[in-house]
Amino acid sequence: MKYLERGYLEKDELPPFPSKERLRKKSVAYIECPQPIPCSPCYEACPADAIKMENINDPPEVDYEKCTGCMKCIRVCPGLAIFMLRLRNGGIGEVTLQYEFLPWLKKGDRVRLLNRKGEIVGEGVVNWVLPPERNDHTSLVRVEMPAELIFEVRAVKPVEVRK
Ligand code: SF4
Ligand code: SF4
Repeated sequence: MKYLERGYLEKDELPPFPSKERLRKKSVAYIECPQPIPCSPCYEACPADAIKMENINDPPEVDYEKCTGCMKCIRVCPGLAIFMLRLRNGGIGEVTLQYEFLPWLKKGDRVRLLNRKGEIVGEGVVNWVLPPERNDHTSLVRVEMPAELIFEVRAVKPVEVRK
């Protein structure tokens, strides 16, 4: 479990990505949660039986063909470990991720794109936001970016901080 010392996952520690064909059909859940810990809200929330866990300590595995892109799992993950990925026409990609900083991002905001190490790898634009529910501190943001970056970008920060 080198990633625990390092603080981020390397490529060879990641689950297989969905095929590009699947990513072009519609949004799909991609889970980066390798640590055996007793946690299962994603599994319990999935209405499509698309998340496999043999027991509560098992890292979850997504069946990309069963996933409908409903986003129920990403809304309940306490570990910020789920990302919705999608490829659109024209070389555009989308990553939907959990965001917990103030001020909340809004549609149209430009953001810096960060990879798993926290390095800036580009810029994107927020095209959809689900504000946090009452008593919750997590919003969902969907960010447009160059297609190839959906496999790398796992956090964002605003280009300009609003007052
Ligand atoms: S997006 Fe919906 S269908 Fe897909 S894994 Fe998550 S809860 Fe299941
Ligand atoms: S809810 Fe999140 S942290 Fe918990 S097992 Fe699922 S992906 Fe991992």
